[in-house]
Amino acid sequence: MPARLPAMNKTLTLFILCTLACEISSAQENFDSVKVVPQKLSDHLYFLTGSGGNIGVLVGPDGTVMVDDQFAPLSNRINGAIKTIDPGDIRFVINTHLHGDHSGGNENFTHMGSTVIAQDNVRKRMSSSSTNPQTKEVTPPRDKAAWPVVTFPGTMSVHLNDEDIELIHLDPAHTDGDVAIWFKTANVFHLGDMFVTYGYPYIDYGSGGSINGFISSLDKLLAMMDDKTRIIPGHGPLCTKADVQKFRDSLADIRDQTLAALKKGKATSEVGSLPIASKYDATWGGGFIKGKDFVFQVAENLKASLPPSKK
Ligand SMILES: [Zn+2]
Repeated sequence: MPARLPAMNKTLTLFILCTLACEISSAQENFDSVKVVPQKLSDHLYFLTGSGGNIGVLVGPDGTVMVDDQFAPLSNRINGAIKTIDPGDIRFVINTHLHGDHSGGNENFTHMGSTVIAQDNVRKRMSSSSTNPQTKEVTPPRDKAAWPVVTFPGTMSVHLNDEDIELIHLDPAHTDGDVAIWFKTANVFHLGDMFVTYGYPYIDYGSGGSINGFISSLDKLLAMMDDKTRIIPGHGPLCTKADVQKFRDSLADIRDQTLAALKKGKATSEVGSLPIASKYDATWGGGFIKGKDFVFQVAENLKASLPPSKK
């Protein structure tokens, strides 16, 4: 889910602003009633739901590793829930990407003594201001305590509690700083917002996201999975490789149809009004992005990479 808004048409920008405002205000109003619930995946591995992105937690004698930390007002509750699993210190917090529903607790966990790890571009974006090209709204940098202190460009490994954790950055996907977290011994992935179950996935083009990179990243990740792999989505219940495959195939179908329409010379606004996504509305239409808007944004993103004769 977004913390910064991408370039898109005015109506859609307003729609998402309203959706976000409602989500944030209702989330703030409801934080008191949010329950942080741990679910056990193995002796050492759990995932926690609350409000915001799913949290992965590895515990054991070497200390605790946490993947994503939801919104700041929930930090004490999240910390409390993790301590009921294991009293050890939270040594590392890994961010799957920069958005505030996944990294909003960074400041608090840094102050508690955790070390925040993320891909290079997460630190770059958190430490600088950005301007929305449509609304000209300026988002200031995050508080310095939120910035990851250990960053890496491609891959990185963390070895704790008899688990080998691989942090994998692939192509620009949901943003340009996404990391998939692979708990290799447990055969579990946390995919952040490269895989969600709430509907059409949000692609933050303003933060370097890309439809082609989204699909190529999923292809590379699927090649690392088997039928027993369990997948923690950025948002939603525990899933399987087959779920990720279906998600990837649906995106590729929408991308291919959109590209074909653009190559016929249609304008992005015309492509957006074609029924390209209609067969996915039954499963994805209930989310905060509507099919036609999703297709329009995909068309805008693809158009930028077409040769000049096709634009
Ligand atoms: Zn996100």
